Amino acid sequence: MSRIYNFSAGPSMLPLEVLEQAAAEMTDYNGSGMSVMEMSHRSPVYDAIIKQTEADFRKLMNIPDNYKVLFLQGGASTQFAAVPLNLMKTGKADYVVSGQFSKKAFKEAQKYGDAKCIASSEDRTFAYIPDVTPDMVRPDADYVHVCYNNTIFGTKYPEVPNVGDKVLVADMSSCITSEPVDVTKFGVIYAGAQKNMAPAGLTVVIIREDLLGNARPETPTMLDYKTMADNDSMYNTPPCYTIYIAGLVYKWALKNGGLTAMKERNEKKAKLLYDYLDSSKLFKPTADKKYRSMMNVCFVTGDADLDKKFCSEAAAAGLSNLKGHRSVGGMRASIYNAMPYEGVEALVAFMKKFETENA
Ligand code: PMP
Repeated sequence: MSRIYNFSAGPSMLPLEVLEQAAAEMTDYNGSGMSVMEMSHRSPVYDAIIKQTEADFRKLMNIPDNYKVLFLQGGASTQFAAVPLNLMKTGKADYVVSGQFSKKAFKEAQKYGDAKCIASSEDRTFAYIPDVTPDMVRPDADYVHVCYNNTIFGTKYPEVPNVGDKVLVADMSSCITSEPVDVTKFGVIYAGAQKNMAPAGLTVVIIREDLLGNARPETPTMLDYKTMADNDSMYNTPPCYTIYIAGLVYKWALKNGGLTAMKERNEKKAKLLYDYLDSSKLFKPTADKKYRSMMNVCFVTGDADLDKKFCSEAAAAGLSNLKGHRSVGGMRASIYNAMPYEGVEALVAFMKKFETENA
């Protein structure tokens, strides 16, 4: 078996141990005589899987009892609509635009009410996170929406933004479970699972209970958080197999020290790469230092042809998916929880060699 180091932004690497366990259980899960893929979501055996998955996720993220965890479909992009449909009571909401996904979320919310962009970093191609202070938030806005880690531009909030007493909603698709977060500072956290938690097909929502039950009447049943909460994410068929893999990933993270340990590992990996980038004469990191993401590391040579050469030679050396997002070009190394330190070491060694050869 040969596995490469896969730097894809998502879907992305999963821990090898998890894949091996899933493979071992593929045709006969725990003596049930069937694969988890083949099971009724209403069966006792599956019920135990989803309950354990939620319990492990709660433990990992330290989620208080007054928050519901929902396992949904539709990707994080569906949440761009679900959030305003469920939370806009006055019809007003404030958005911070710090990248392409938060811009999409803002545009989607405009369909449903008075969504206002209160801060943006588009003036410098989203190389930084704009400051947010409570006085920027409209007094009658129902919530403030942020994207906590900007996958395409490689930036992240250095701390939880201060929005006063407003409900804070965060898209954490590309940083969830990468480090501890204080869930109580947020009203809603949502994330597509396909980066740090599972294959594609699952979207996780963490929502404070008092925010449930305010969906506007025209909200599709499937997008009403209360429907999903009241039915323990089983109003309809949930993404059963993806939830099972997420459960294995949560167990892996807990076994490996939980989110404090994940943070340490991720900081160490990111430091290795950024330290090299800061010293390199060929490669330049693109995000402002203060806002650098630990998960998505973006860099360029300044020469599009050389970038292309780098990506293809890296792929040939077993370092794949280093091409930056199609909208920005350059390179991006996504180093989520499952990327081992050795993968980043191999990347840095390759970059040094490439730099010498192309000086
Ligand atoms: N938000 C962020 C921060 C993302 O990185 C992505 C996907 N890369 C999305 C939203 C969209 O997620 P999905 O494809 O699950 O709809």
